[in-house]
Amino acid sequence: MKITFACPECQTQVVIEPTDPTGSLPCPACEGEIAFAPSESVLAQNMVDICPRCEKPSFYIQKDFNQKLGLGIVILFALLGLIFVWMDRPTYFYLSLGAGLGIDFLLYLILPELTVCYACKTAFRNARLNPDHKPFDLHIADHYDGRSQG
Ligand SMILES: [Zn+2]
Ligand SMILES: [Zn+2]
Repeated sequence: MKITFACPECQTQVVIEPTDPTGSLPCPACEGEIAFAPSESVLAQNMVDICPRCEKPSFYIQKDFNQKLGLGIVILFALLGLIFVWMDRPTYFYLSLGAGLGIDFLLYLILPELTVCYACKTAFRNARLNPDHKPFDLHIADHYDGRSQG
């Protein structure tokens, strides 16, 4: 699996393929030590159970969907549709917009799922999905997100 997280010191995105049970690793950008302890399940079974970064056991599953890209596609097709309006073919505006939404939907269907840690937002790609993990739940997120609670 590929594990993606932000360095706590410099916020650089670090991508790691865990191979051995180290307790920490150096940040490639600032060379600070980052706590990183992949569990037996992560290493041997390619399945997430405990977060290597924060050692919490709560995760959610989501589509690996880039929302900015999705919105960009819809806007692009809407603009394309405006050309049809300009050419006095307003019906095609809706067809074009529909095509943009359709492409978004297809993208969403074919995209893989990733596992995300509620507590530290570390993302796990190419892992076997753990059947205990469910889609995003706001109540669990609230529990871990101390900042929004004040
Ligand atoms: Zn760093
Ligand atoms: Zn975590």
